[in-house]
Amino acid sequence: MDDYPITVLLVEDNLADVALLTELLQDADLEYWQITHAKRLSIALEYLQNTRFDVILLDLSLPDSQGLDTIVQVQSRVPHLPIIVLTGLQDKRIALQAVAQGAQDYLVKGEVSSELLLKTVGYARERIQILQRLQESEQRFRGIFNQTFQFMSLLSPDGVVLDINQALRDRMGFPDEVVLNHLIWEAPYWKFVEQSQSWLKMAILRASEGETLQAELQAYTSQETLQWLDFSIKPLKNGNNTITLLIAEGWNISTLKQAEAEIRQSLAKEQELNQMKNSFISMISHEFRTPLSSIILAVDLLENYNFAEDKKKKYYDQIRGSISRTLELFDEILLLGRTESGKVKAKYTSLDLTKFCSEIVETFQLTKGNSHQIIFSVTDASIVAKMDTCLLKHILENLLSNGIKYSPKGGIIRFSLSCSDHHAKFCIQDQGIGIPKLDQAKLFEPFHRAKNVGKIKGTGLGLAIVKRCVDLHLGNIQVDSKEGHGTTFTVILPRHIEEQERETINA
Ligand code: ATP
Ligand code: MG
Repeated sequence: MDDYPITVLLVEDNLADVALLTELLQDADLEYWQITHAKRLSIALEYLQNTRFDVILLDLSLPDSQGLDTIVQVQSRVPHLPIIVLTGLQDKRIALQAVAQGAQDYLVKGEVSSELLLKTVGYARERIQILQRLQESEQRFRGIFNQTFQFMSLLSPDGVVLDINQALRDRMGFPDEVVLNHLIWEAPYWKFVEQSQSWLKMAILRASEGETLQAELQAYTSQETLQWLDFSIKPLKNGNNTITLLIAEGWNISTLKQAEAEIRQSLAKEQELNQMKNSFISMISHEFRTPLSSIILAVDLLENYNFAEDKKKKYYDQIRGSISRTLELFDEILLLGRTESGKVKAKYTSLDLTKFCSEIVETFQLTKGNSHQIIFSVTDASIVAKMDTCLLKHILENLLSNGIKYSPKGGIIRFSLSCSDHHAKFCIQDQGIGIPKLDQAKLFEPFHRAKNVGKIKGTGLGLAIVKRCVDLHLGNIQVDSKEGHGTTFTVILPRHIEEQERETINA
């Protein structure tokens, strides 16, 4: 027991009860009770304002206050003062309600012994101290729980969300009612992310058996932005080693993830560039070496032997052919380099596409011999457009020459031209070896050649150039191909013709 007086505020309007209680207190073997009596609540509240009391004995039916409201008023004035309610026999129900409201205990008038009174006061004081410590500890916990940058939630062992911290609330932006008291995998964060949901179901099951689990999960905010979380679930045990709670924690690692993705992307790009460099070097050594060696060979022969004129001509033709192939290759590499570095700009001039395409087909048919037939079809006798003729020539010549080259058994190449008000569509279709599905995705990358080319020669630059030329025209290219059956390339380019010009042309 404390060795300073216990100060009691006795609030009771019945003087007989006051006398009895005072006597009981003084009888209770203690000389140091300091009792202050108040007949009315208003007087009691005044005392409470100026004096510190250890306990209040409070009658609930006073001349100026009745029932539970009396407690409310005292509590609002002195929140941590232990209240013991004094009640008559018939008012037990209200006494119980008073305890539920925050009174520490109650005493039934007429049934109080000095021993009981002593015990009740002692327990009431202890209980309020414990409650106060509990509140302080709760405040400390809340402070940490809510101030941390980490997302935290407390779950029951079967995964129901009991509490969430402020960081989680602020960042994810959902109202408490759609999260609290729901199973964690049903919370709206994971709504569209099935993978996160199934991980959570599994993790809760295992955490409730004592395991700690960690994973990187994707979650949605209320604004529907996707976040990456470094997420962990830990079990929390009580003194009996029983799991009473699960703690779920999450770090927002979206920025980290994005940086990681960027690094990975630039690594892939670098690898790709390296690979391109390697292909380029091996292509150069092969493609340039072959014609140059055959030139040297032909020159040697011409120098050392006295050939007849027709034989000499054959060697000269061979030299010329090798030189022009080497020059072509140079041109292709230079063009690709210039388009990649942004040095080439489309120079639009008016042209008649029908005429332009017919001429290309004619030249092709003449130079490529008659092992292949090119059938050109066009919807209009004249289709006017504004295009860069040089770029357009690269596009069509490359596609036509591929059509011929990759149809080793000969056959028909169909070339069709059509137009709408704003666009022109070029289709080049062959019945050749086709392109395997896996290669189709990389078709426009420089030096990429499909697996099925066999002995057909090529550098893998043609389509890369075609794609750059189509892009410079703000157009679009598509491929439809089936290995062993044939290939169709479709190029759509804007006509760059105003309505007025079209009308004049159509007139
Ligand atoms: P070049 O630079 O001499 O044109 P290439 O023909 O090999 O060489 P691209 O025109 O870029 O290079 O074509 C790339 C690859 O795409 C070819 O190697 C071939 O595998 C495939 N390809 C292109 N067109 C066709 C086609 N019409 N039919 C079948 N495969 C094709
Ligand atoms: Mg080609």
